[in-house]
Amino acid sequence: MPRDPRFDPLFQPLKIGPVTAPNRFWQVPHCTGMGNRHPRTLAAMRGVKAEGGWGVVNTEYCSIHESSDDTPAIHASLWDDHDVRAHALMTEAVHFQGALAGVELWHGGIRVSNAWSRLAGLGPVSAMAENVPWQSARMDRQDVALLRQWHRAAALRAVQADFDVVYVYAAHTYLLAQFLDPVLNPVDWEARIGLVLALAEDTREAVGHRAAVATRIEVTDEDGTGQEERARLLERLAPLIDVFDVTIPDYGTEMGPSRFVKEAPLENHVAHVRAVTGKPVVCVGRFTSPETMLGQLRRGVLDFIGAARPSIADPFLPKKIDEGRMEDIRECIGCNICYAHDGLGAPIRCTQNPAMGEEWRRGWHPEDVPAITGRADPVLIVGAGPSGMEAALVLGRRGVPVLLAEAEDSPGGRVTREARLPGLSEWARVRDWRLGQLAKLPQVELFRASRMGVQDVLETGVGHVLVATGSLWRRDGTGRSNPGGIAGLGAVLTPDDILAGARPGDGPVVIFDDEGYHIAAGLADLLAAEGHEVTYVSPGGAVAEWSAYTTEQSRLQARLIGQGVTILTHLALAGRGEGTAEFACVHTGKPLGVACGTLIPVTSREPQDGLWHGLQGKGLTTLERIGDARAPGLIFHAVHDGHRAGRALFAPPEGPLRREVIAL
Ligand code: ADP
Ligand code: SF4
Repeated sequence: MPRDPRFDPLFQPLKIGPVTAPNRFWQVPHCTGMGNRHPRTLAAMRGVKAEGGWGVVNTEYCSIHESSDDTPAIHASLWDDHDVRAHALMTEAVHFQGALAGVELWHGGIRVSNAWSRLAGLGPVSAMAENVPWQSARMDRQDVALLRQWHRAAALRAVQADFDVVYVYAAHTYLLAQFLDPVLNPVDWEARIGLVLALAEDTREAVGHRAAVATRIEVTDEDGTGQEERARLLERLAPLIDVFDVTIPDYGTEMGPSRFVKEAPLENHVAHVRAVTGKPVVCVGRFTSPETMLGQLRRGVLDFIGAARPSIADPFLPKKIDEGRMEDIRECIGCNICYAHDGLGAPIRCTQNPAMGEEWRRGWHPEDVPAITGRADPVLIVGAGPSGMEAALVLGRRGVPVLLAEAEDSPGGRVTREARLPGLSEWARVRDWRLGQLAKLPQVELFRASRMGVQDVLETGVGHVLVATGSLWRRDGTGRSNPGGIAGLGAVLTPDDILAGARPGDGPVVIFDDEGYHIAAGLADLLAAEGHEVTYVSPGGAVAEWSAYTTEQSRLQARLIGQGVTILTHLALAGRGEGTAEFACVHTGKPLGVACGTLIPVTSREPQDGLWHGLQGKGLTTLERIGDARAPGLIFHAVHDGHRAGRALFAPPEGPLRREVIAL
């Protein structure tokens, strides 16, 4: 279909400094956990985004000097010629698709660990680095002069690597933001803004003839005040800057998980920047709706639609708008699993887009799967959760006839259940997008309300079977704290029961969170909101500890506090007493009884692989269990495994994963 002309403004080129962006889709700098460790992986991934229509594709934060080393998080660097060659792989891949490539020059200041480089961090003060018990050095005049030299040298290397946009990065609590912060740098305003202006000037002077100079900067001070002073700063910067990439200091909103933050949350904060600077403005907003994007341009809020997560979930989002295929847009669900893996020091992945990070390593493309050559035998997939649906989609697209049998009336499996937790309705996009795509494939047939037993499977006469029957939460307390389970727990409700509609009876509810991600906290929130008296108990030190990686931890804890939930930590479930749940301190073993009418153990899950066992030795050509039926994981694991299985069937065996080879 041709593009709806209403969306033409999104496809108008725009000159920025000495270069011209081909359209208004700006993939803002975002971390990938690839950085200077995985240059080919990175180049292929960014190249795919350019292929999908992102007019400007940026790197992640790119260190200008070894004194800015964010270990264990992985970042890019422009320290030497080796780095220039590594980045050139990316700029070449991006240019090949007709897009511009940008780089975000970065110094972390007081925040970085420098655990690899062992150099001192630098900043306007000597302060504690993040998550480690050591401090940075207070910068003197010579340090400032050196910093300017490093920044300038990195900008020149950026141009050598053929970047078209060079960022002066003054946001996100890194070095330049520290200089702008009146708390960390309590000098007069002119002195505070001096370094940012100097670096903008240096960068313009060094590379402004070849590359657009951008800045990423907040529109208020760290505490959310000082908007007028910031506006004056933006005005001062305007002659030096070609594009303003603006945001607010509250990262939890900018990078907001959908549980708490919806589309376009920054509009009111940044709407003045265009008028103040007279320069093109970009800002993120987890934009996935073309209408919302258009509105941003029409109302004069933005010139470029900034996106990190929407471009991760669907690298082809711009192309789909261009081709009038709105319904094909694979919308980000706002789970922040992409961000979580940067914190884990691992390459990025995405719940919605299983090809993310696999473009080079496995040769996966987010839109194309290799068609079957010759006759394709039909495949039966049992279970239409995320893994079964994704496998059906891949196989269907490859031209394979698929029977997809689902026990329940409504497909989606765990996604359908988990999307019922407070704030998680957008997670249902995992199901809904796949259902929409499957409906376009006549060779895939979905059978609802069709629970398959061994005999039912054999009666279909289909010789290739993928068992995607998922997993269910255990009732016996088996988990990290109690690997052998707990005898005599008695009747409990599981998360599956609650999310299927069961509710506690009289008396207090006790939720034991041995998993540590979000399910137990979500249930506590849900049940407290319904009026139950809820106690949340964790063997860890905080509510939903793992969700710190997805930026949700603190807000989840605040929410439970706000709901009046009693929070108990450092306690492991030990058993059940008369009207109590019995716990023991994980450090001392000291027992504690907690009043309990209904116990909800959130400990671990049991793979539902009985069907797979039952089909062993029954003469099937293919019999594989996939997704949670094999290894219960997060939703992204299930989607990825379904995708892998869909590609692997009727294909030569996959070789070992491709690795980045370090020349020796
Ligand atoms: P995954 O995350 O691996 O996709 P889920 O638990 O989300 O796993 O989904 C598994 C799906 O399989 C559920 O929708 C469940 O109803 C379905 N299912 C389980 N057993 C059977 C069966 N015997 N026949 C058909 N569907 C089944
Ligand atoms: Fe969006 Fe989740 Fe994918 Fe990140 S991992 S891009 S938040 S769907």
